[in-house]
This record gives sequence, structure tokens and C-alpha cells, in this order.
Amino acid sequence: MIHTEQKNFVPGRPAKVPPPLHGLSEPLRVSDIRQYVYCPRIVYFNYVIPVPRVTTVKMEEGLRSHTEFSELESRRTLAKYGLEEGTREFRVQLQSHRLGIAGRLDLLITTASNVYPVEFKDTHGNPGLHHKYQLVAYALMAEEARGKPAKAGFIYVIPGKKIFKITIDESARMFTQKIISAMVNIIRTGTMPQRTRWGGRCRGCEFRNYCRDA
Ligand code: SF4
Repeated sequence: MIHTEQKNFVPGRPAKVPPPLHGLSEPLRVSDIRQYVYCPRIVYFNYVIPVPRVTTVKMEEGLRSHTEFSELESRRTLAKYGLEEGTREFRVQLQSHRLGIAGRLDLLITTASNVYPVEFKDTHGNPGLHHKYQLVAYALMAEEARGKPAKAGFIYVIPGKKIFKITIDESARMFTQKIISAMVNIIRTGTMPQRTRWGGRCRGCEFRNYCRDA
């Protein structure tokens, strides 16, 4: 069981719902899924051993950029998503008791028959798999919350003003659930997972000083 006594356990923000089915005392954050795909050890450092966190200037700038972009986006049409109609909700808090995750989605578009999660990314280059599976997790939660299918979602890369359509297919759904199970296992057992295969990711990592073989 996790483990409310673990000092650095900072959960997602639960609403008044029963504890997650995965058996931890609190839901995991959707951002944990992104971080796990980027490097599984980040989840270990976030949950299993206490490591001081710092808010960098880059993080603060990213937050500001998100807020400003959301305000602009609320005045634009849905045509760039290939949609003719739909209602928009910004910064939507979602939680799934079944999956045991929670997080705040940048934008949820709801049409007569579907929901479409949208994540804004203040990043250069195309979205990576870590962005994709975070979006899939939001799609699964949005389906539960609104009772409509999420067949696709979008990642909006702010600097390049590019929109990437992501299909929410069965394999993506299953892989996302496997990621959640793997994270739960790391937290339950306290086992340090393998480091990322991509060594370049360690250069700017805030956990570099704590990562034994980084
Ligand atoms: S330093 Fe590298 S291996 Fe360690 S947590 Fe960061 S990205 Fe992962």
C-alpha cells in the first residue's frame, strides 16, 4: 500500500471520490505519465525517495505562456481542429477512480457525439511519445467524465502554432494503462527503474545529482 506516510508523496488533486482502484491512497498525476515515458526514474524520484524540488524560471515562463495562450485560444474558432461545432472548456480538472489518475486538461472540446482533449505545449519540435500518452490519459478520463467517446485528441505546439492530431486507438489505451500499472509497481515496491535509453535527457534533468549512474 502506499503510503500516506511517504514524505514526498504529492498526489493529484482528488475530488470527493473513493480511493483509486489501483490501491494507492491517492490518484497519480497525469503529468506522471508524461514523465514516466520520458524517463521512468523520474516517477521514482517524485514518489519513492525525498528529493527537493525547485521551480525553475523556465517552468514559471511555461505556466505564464499557457495562461496567455488559453485566453487567446478562447477567442478563436474550432476550424483548425477540423471541427465545425463544439463547446470549449479550459483548464478542466479530471479524475478517474477506475484508472487512479487525476489532472487538469488545457482544453476539452465537446461535440454532439465526441470529446476531444487538447494539450498546449510550449516546446520546440514535434511532440514526443511522452506528450502522446499524457493526452491519451486525458482522453480516457474525459470519456468517463462526459460519457462520450474520445476517438482523437490534439497537441497544440504553441511556438510553431502547429496542431498534431493523435488517434486514441486501442493499443494507445492499453499502453497507457500499462504505464499506470508500472508506476504503481515502482511506488509500491520502491524499486528504482532503469534509466532512460536516451542519455541526452539527463543533461537538463533536475534529478541528475541524485541519479546514481546518470
Ligand atoms: S538523470 Fe537521466 S536517468 Fe536520472 S532521472 Fe534524470 S533523465 Fe532519468
